[in-house]
Amino acid sequence: MNSKNNLFLTSENSGKQAYIEMMEATIRAIAASMVDEQAYAGMPPYELRDAVHTDELLPEKGCGFAAILDEIKSKILPNLVRPASTNYMAHLHSAALVETIAAELIISTFNQSMDSWDQAPVATEIEVEVIRNLCKMYGYDENSDGVFTSGGSQSNLSGLLLARDWFCNEKLHYDIKKHGLPENFRKLRMYSSEISHFSMEKSAHLMGMGYEAVVKVPVNDAMQMDVDTLEKLIEKDIAAGNIPFCIAATVGTTDFGSIDPLEKLRELCDRYGLWLHADAAYGSGVVLSKKYAHRVAGLALADSITVDFHKMFLMPISCSASLIRDKRNFDALTIHADYLNREEDEEDGYINLVNKSMQTTRRFDALKVWVSFKMRGADGWSELITRCIDNAAYFHSILQADADCEVITAPEISSVVFRVLPPAGSSEDADTMNKRIRRALLHHHGVVIGQTVCNGNVCLKFTLLNPLQTHEKLDELLALILSLR
Ligand SMILES: *Cc1c(COP(=O)(O)O)cnc(C)c1O
Repeated sequence: MNSKNNLFLTSENSGKQAYIEMMEATIRAIAASMVDEQAYAGMPPYELRDAVHTDELLPEKGCGFAAILDEIKSKILPNLVRPASTNYMAHLHSAALVETIAAELIISTFNQSMDSWDQAPVATEIEVEVIRNLCKMYGYDENSDGVFTSGGSQSNLSGLLLARDWFCNEKLHYDIKKHGLPENFRKLRMYSSEISHFSMEKSAHLMGMGYEAVVKVPVNDAMQMDVDTLEKLIEKDIAAGNIPFCIAATVGTTDFGSIDPLEKLRELCDRYGLWLHADAAYGSGVVLSKKYAHRVAGLALADSITVDFHKMFLMPISCSASLIRDKRNFDALTIHADYLNREEDEEDGYINLVNKSMQTTRRFDALKVWVSFKMRGADGWSELITRCIDNAAYFHSILQADADCEVITAPEISSVVFRVLPPAGSSEDADTMNKRIRRALLHHHGVVIGQTVCNGNVCLKFTLLNPLQTHEKLDELLALILSLR
């Protein structure tokens, strides 16, 4: 082995030099790759496959960093999508704010693991601090708690698991953690809207209950869960001997950004003794907009909240949190091991965050939130989020004014779903045309937009998470789309 240390950043000069050289060269290559405004300027699928599936992954002799950086420059960087482009609006997938990328460098360099205090001393304290502030921000009191997770899907699973175990403990006097599912587990029911995220069904499956445990509730014209129908469905289930345990509201649906009526859902939960989970993977960001925060004020009423920082909050993947109104419920995820999180640790002030988490080894993602919140402040953040929501309102207004477009519903957050209609005399049907336009934008115009189905029709979707987006650019994009009909 080469005596020069190019393995780790250590106190040795050779380690420091290797670290600085590799980082600098990488940063310069990344910056140089940003040559135009296109959101995707790379190859189409088959070409891309041929280009990258040619080499041995583990050659007999390694090529060294300079050569691999050259390969990154030629093969990888040109074929990445660029979420920071104002031509990118396909998914709830955002660009990462520059300061949060700097935080990522610290996270990766020091590689702390959040499971136990001795693997992450200051990181543990920062996560605790960030969680305490987040709980306050969403209207929770000092009995609340939370933990960072890998994403909205895991936060939903965590919230729903705590919901079910709480219900079985409190109402059925049955401890699932100890005994596994109760005999009548096939009767357990949770309710979410028909346009809720598929992690509802996935969670039900992972929790051993299966998709049939998830009752999908119809939505109204504003794409919000229909509360009257929900109440009827609960009554029907009770009459049939089923056991409702949870309502899972969506605060910002994936396609439309619509917000389920939390106040009314809380009333139903209280009346029937159910847990209220709020999937705010998308809508959690709205709380930072001084102009629009009132739209998500109902989050304070939920027993658990899914917050995603890698969507509206513009942070690098992954960064997400699961918040719980009554911290005692985290007991469902606590199990002690002699090698990791001894019970006596806590008595002596060593916090082991693994006690609240489904993951064991876990990233120090809380640092990104800590850095960005402090750096930009409430005013800076309010401006970013407000601009995205205002842009969606503007785009909705120009679509509505255009006879060649059909828009589905007024946006509550920053997504707009619409379709363009074929010009008079066109032989192409609207579905085929909208699909064709999306592909043409992707491969010939460097524009990446979303596509979904609404009321059986293929629709296009703009998810506006980029505060650099402008009204002028939205005008241009709509003109481009209409010109491709
Ligand atoms: C994105 C999304 C999720 C899943 O979050 P991930 O971070 O992708 O796991 C869950 N619910 C809703 C409403 C979402 O939009």
